[in-house]
Amino acid sequence: MTRIAVTGGGGFLGSHLCDRLLNDGAEVFCIDNFATGRAENVRHLFGHPAFHLIHHDVTRFTHVKGPLTAVLHFASPASPVDYSRLPIETLKVGSTGTMNGLGLARAKGARFVLASTSETYGDPKVHPQPETYWGNVNPVGPRSMYDEAKRFAEAVTMAYRHHHDVNTGIARIFNTYGLRMRPDDGRAIPTFISQALRGEPITVSGDGSQTRSVCYVDDLVEGVMRLLWSDLPGPVNIGNPTELSILDTAELVRTVCRSDSPITFVARPVDDPTARQPDISLAKERLGWEPKVDIHDGLMRTVSWFAAQVAPRWAA
Ligand code: NAD
Ligand code: UDP
Repeated sequence: MTRIAVTGGGGFLGSHLCDRLLNDGAEVFCIDNFATGRAENVRHLFGHPAFHLIHHDVTRFTHVKGPLTAVLHFASPASPVDYSRLPIETLKVGSTGTMNGLGLARAKGARFVLASTSETYGDPKVHPQPETYWGNVNPVGPRSMYDEAKRFAEAVTMAYRHHHDVNTGIARIFNTYGLRMRPDDGRAIPTFISQALRGEPITVSGDGSQTRSVCYVDDLVEGVMRLLWSDLPGPVNIGNPTELSILDTAELVRTVCRSDSPITFVARPVDDPTARQPDISLAKERLGWEPKVDIHDGLMRTVSWFAAQVAPRWAA
């Protein structure tokens, strides 16, 4: 039987990975301390005979009884609002937590897949970003607890690969959105959707000309599955190359929500990256992967789910 541990399995991406792995017939060990995740994300899996929820902080010694095929290390605060309020926890889970996940994979002879991030590129001076670009990160700035934790996580993953022969893969995940994001996690898409559905002003930072390239969660899950079942070490970019300004994203969200919320301009966070777009040539070539869901379709699906959470009258 395929047995897989998913750290951070109670979070946004982790819970979708648990769903997919169970659907594919695996036994799943979801390890989470619910620092930023929610039990609701996996409540529908309670009682599933192949699903095990382990309430545990992965910065402590982490163990699962019996064999494991793989460890997917997704535990970490991920939104700027979350990691700014949890700076030490973020650095610990990226460092000690990643080492514990690697140690678990090593003990079991399992493949280890790290959820790294496009934030390793910082405010990029190369556009779009290929995996060969080393990035432009401020090591002491307000995003450094996250960016440097992930850069350390990548380094320690490579050290275990080379020094301990652990079978590793690194995914550099670009902004992903979809069902189960917390409406209050502060990231652009859940914030804009919640504001639009409530008829509140949509808070675009700066003049909104900064860009992001957002990927729908189902596409991300497929990319992670392909990386999991390959022997590619990576890092490999997993993201949707369609680039949009944040102002255009806000306007699109407003249209999909059929909202008349005004757009209001607020202060741009310090070190907010100016542009971000993945070069996905490597994922295409080595994993045969590219995203399939366009942003309009992805937003329609996401908005329907959010409506039931934040504005039930909209959904009716
Ligand atoms: P999330 O906050 O919804 O999920 C993270 C999960 O990790 C949460 O359930 C949280 O409770 C758990 N966690 C945090 N610290 C832990 C600890 N010490 N022990 C056990 N569990 C812990 O965020 P997400 O968006 O699902 O992100 C998942 C992973 O993907 C993160 O590693 C993140 O850095 C990475 N990532 C996400 C995106 C994105 O756009 N969503 C982009 C790049 C990278
Ligand atoms: N953003 C915004 N309004 C918000 C939240 C975010 O304009 O209410 C902007 C943010 O400044 C950034 C972009 O949207 O330029 C993406 O931010 P997010 O927090 O989603 O992700 P990240 O900065 O990590 O890419």
